Amino acid sequence: MTIKFDSLKIIEPILEALKKIGYVTPTPIQEKTITLALDNKDVIGIAQTGTGKTAAFVIPLLQKLHLKPSRTKSPRALVLAPTRELAAQIGQSFRTYGKFLKLKHVEVYGGVPISPQIRALERGVDILVATPGRLMDLMNQREVDLDKIDFFVLDEADRMLDMGFLKDVRKIAEELPTKKQSLFFSATMSNAIINLTKDFLKNPAKVQITPQATPVEKIKQCVYFVDQNDKIELLLDLYYQDKMDCVLLFVKGKHRADKIAKLLNKNKIATDAIHGNKSQGQRTKALGNFKSGKVKVLVATDIAARGIDVHNISHVINFDLPNETENYVHRIGRTARAGKQGNAYSFCAAEDRNFLNEIEKITKREMPAGQHKYHSHKAKDATGVNAKPKPRTSRFNRVNKINPRSGRKNQESSDSRDEGRGRNSRGRKSSSSGGSRFGSRRKGSSSSGARKFGSRDSRKSSGFSSRKGRR
Ligand code: AMP
Repeated sequence: MTIKFDSLKIIEPILEALKKIGYVTPTPIQEKTITLALDNKDVIGIAQTGTGKTAAFVIPLLQKLHLKPSRTKSPRALVLAPTRELAAQIGQSFRTYGKFLKLKHVEVYGGVPISPQIRALERGVDILVATPGRLMDLMNQREVDLDKIDFFVLDEADRMLDMGFLKDVRKIAEELPTKKQSLFFSATMSNAIINLTKDFLKNPAKVQITPQATPVEKIKQCVYFVDQNDKIELLLDLYYQDKMDCVLLFVKGKHRADKIAKLLNKNKIATDAIHGNKSQGQRTKALGNFKSGKVKVLVATDIAARGIDVHNISHVINFDLPNETENYVHRIGRTARAGKQGNAYSFCAAEDRNFLNEIEKITKREMPAGQHKYHSHKAKDATGVNAKPKPRTSRFNRVNKINPRSGRKNQESSDSRDEGRGRNSRGRKSSSSGGSRFGSRRKGSSSSGARKFGSRDSRKSSGFSSRKGRR
């Protein structure tokens, strides 16, 4: 029997809001978590994005705060999210589901001025949605009082860990009153997360929705073995062949992201890029245009794409395979949302081969290979050192190298940096893995027919060259 929201003891104003947006049936994580949370239980939710986990905590939080009114100006609920995008999306959920309630929430995250956030806190707030970095700043400046917190939600705990936030999360959790209800969510459960739950949750009920690190069934996964040099051509072929219209494209570096976005725009495919060098305003605009369909392809780095909640992503393309296997699961979870079908294509060059092997190990299945005219046997059969990224010059040399044209120091930085506060994270190695380089032009004739890379000579102007091509 399918359970409906109205059989979950949810109060009328929230049911009304749900009805307004057309949600009738709770997702499995919602059904279980809402019931447990309304029953005052601490909960560990093991679920990926796309399972409806946001509403699973937002709904009971709103209900409990509404039913226990208070005169305090200090927040009574704290939700911690790893990125500003996710914090903003959670804030949006509070707005949507709390439309008919009189509860106030504030989102605080880095990359935007702190003073309006301080003023909003001063005006009084029921729910505080925060990234750890900005919350620590506010705590250090004594601009936020966490003494009245009755509910604590930690979202995407595994991301917090990946982004090097665990220490901050612990510090924040230690500042909270002991008597409170806590809900922790994570796509995966590593030992560090298990320890965190042991330290901060009381007899938690465990809700596991998808088996750990298993990608959603509804996603058609496919690998394309291709040389670095041919990735752009393959992308353009697939784009037209599949008539793609909402593509999230993952790459491994900020500069690479910009370069690909530029190339696609030259090919008249409306594209934008989001990564750590983009301002909050630029990111919000890019996401807005992507959501509205004005931008067809959004090129992103792993960190920047965290928490992107766009319903209609038809294709996730791993232009570069992630070097941290679990990111694969996070990436492809952006498509096939809310019961829809989705496609996840992975471009595997020789140097990505080991990453593919690792992904197949955790997904426990061999990824079907797509047929295409740029098929690379070299990539498919790569083993040993050929299957790994080539070592690059050391980080020190890279950072301090003088650009011969500008005379300035190369400011290249890691993509896996905390984009809210500019600190380094565990994922730093992602940007130092080798791979193709942009900038130099490849000579030779086009194999992609009439397609042009911005100018008449498609290959020459693609701006896309391999390591080999540069030497
Ligand atoms: P989340 O996992 O929280 O990021 O949610 C994934 C997507 O599912 C979001 O776009 C939600 O708006 C949507 N969603 C959440 N709950 C429901 C529901 N019960 N019925 C239909 N769509 C939902």
